[in-house]
Amino acid sequence: MAEEIDIDIAVVGTGPAGLATALAFAHGGSRVALIGPAPLPHSKQPLDTRTAALLESSVDMLKALGVWEAILPHAAPLKAIRIIDASGSLFRAPDVEFRASELGLDAFGYNIANSVLVEFLYAKAAGSVAALYPANVERVELTPSHARLRCAQGTEICVRLVAGADGRNSICRKAAGIAASEQAYGQAAIATSFAHRAPHRGVSIELHRQGGSVTTVPLTDAHASSVIWIADTEEIEVVMRLDLGGFAATLQDRLEGLLGQVDEVGARARFPIARLATETLAGRRTALVGEAAHILPPIGAQGLNLGLRDAATLADCVGEARKRGGDPGSDEMLSAYDRARKVDVLTRTYGIDLLSRSLLSGFLPLRAARGIVSHGLNALPPLRRLVMRIGMMPPTELPSLMRPGAQ
Ligand SMILES: Cc1cc2nc3c(=O)[nH]c(=O)nc-3n(C[C@H](O)[C@H](O)[C@H](O)COP(=O)(O)OP(=O)(O)OC[C@H]3O[C@@H](n4cnc5c(N)ncnc54)[C@H](O)[C@@H]3O)c2cc1C
Repeated sequence: MAEEIDIDIAVVGTGPAGLATALAFAHGGSRVALIGPAPLPHSKQPLDTRTAALLESSVDMLKALGVWEAILPHAAPLKAIRIIDASGSLFRAPDVEFRASELGLDAFGYNIANSVLVEFLYAKAAGSVAALYPANVERVELTPSHARLRCAQGTEICVRLVAGADGRNSICRKAAGIAASEQAYGQAAIATSFAHRAPHRGVSIELHRQGGSVTTVPLTDAHASSVIWIADTEEIEVVMRLDLGGFAATLQDRLEGLLGQVDEVGARARFPIARLATETLAGRRTALVGEAAHILPPIGAQGLNLGLRDAATLADCVGEARKRGGDPGSDEMLSAYDRARKVDVLTRTYGIDLLSRSLLSGFLPLRAARGIVSHGLNALPPLRRLVMRIGMMPPTELPSLMRPGAQ
């Protein structure tokens, strides 16, 4: 049954990137349909054990969208990042600690459980979008003038722009014929949370070993952190099979006692590590957002921050098209969006890919070079500040929703 509604944009996908996109459009005055399964409440969500460290500009966006106040009590400030070479290499790099205070900031960003973030964003979106369809899209038909989407219960929606935020296997990307290349690393990550005896003091610890890393990120409780354990797929399988006590003991050992005794471990889930890149972020009547457009290894907290920048930039491009009285899904708008996102997406995707490969490598000259860089970072505060700024800020102008004080 075809539904006649006066909506000209559909956002497909109810992950954090899709929800932020729908909210950003609604904030700009667009009438939007949001399509995708309703997320489970946080307390009943055993599968998504990930947390996301959201950088300052992402937090500014959530403030502008009116959701930050509700989220803040569940978010832990990230005051410092300590990087430790635990590779046992001949050229062991010295520890490096980046402190937010060196940039005059209280925190680099805030760490929050994905499931909590999604729950708050969905609640806000449900009250802000013009239509909510809690179902999967089964078919997407694109013509030069419009897009027709068929949902699982048979509802059909006709719009002028589809924002495809439907993740790794995006049906929107496929319908638009946008080619994607996926690179596997033979690695996987375990994401979980744990309680520890020593306080984290707002410090995230990255321990790099040859072939993997263990990264802890503070949670709101001073004695609890989330952890991302990256290793080759076989090792991850073994670690996943450990019982809770065995996992806690192995984690404590891997952390070299840095957070004291590991007491309690939460649910564990496993995520494949891959890089996915698309040739463009826009196709006929379609703009891709978040992991539908790019997937990075979870190093340096970049993935969702990049997805939120897609969302905010797309809202700006549609806003510009509307100001000119134009079509929100025109080729002109879509090219502007692709151009605006290209440099940021390419530099992050390939930068993290390079970093990931260099951490995997046992090649001695590369390890020696990393050691020299670490010495330089410790000796030269301006270099350290530059690296911190590059990690936090995109190489292009921030979209309007991400500028400090944006309304
Ligand atoms: C271990 C780990 C740690 C991470 N840590 C960080 C971090 O600290 N900081 C950071 O910025 N990033 C981090 N990331 C990356 C971040 O988790 C992802 O970038 C983010 O969750 C992706 O969100 P998304 O909305 O693009 O995709 P998804 O969360 O995959 O959402 C896609 C949505 O689309 C829906 N969908 C799929 N198909 C359809 C369809 N046909 N119709 C309708 N809906 C559909 C799905 O149900 C889902 O809700 C981490 C990733 C991992 C693996």
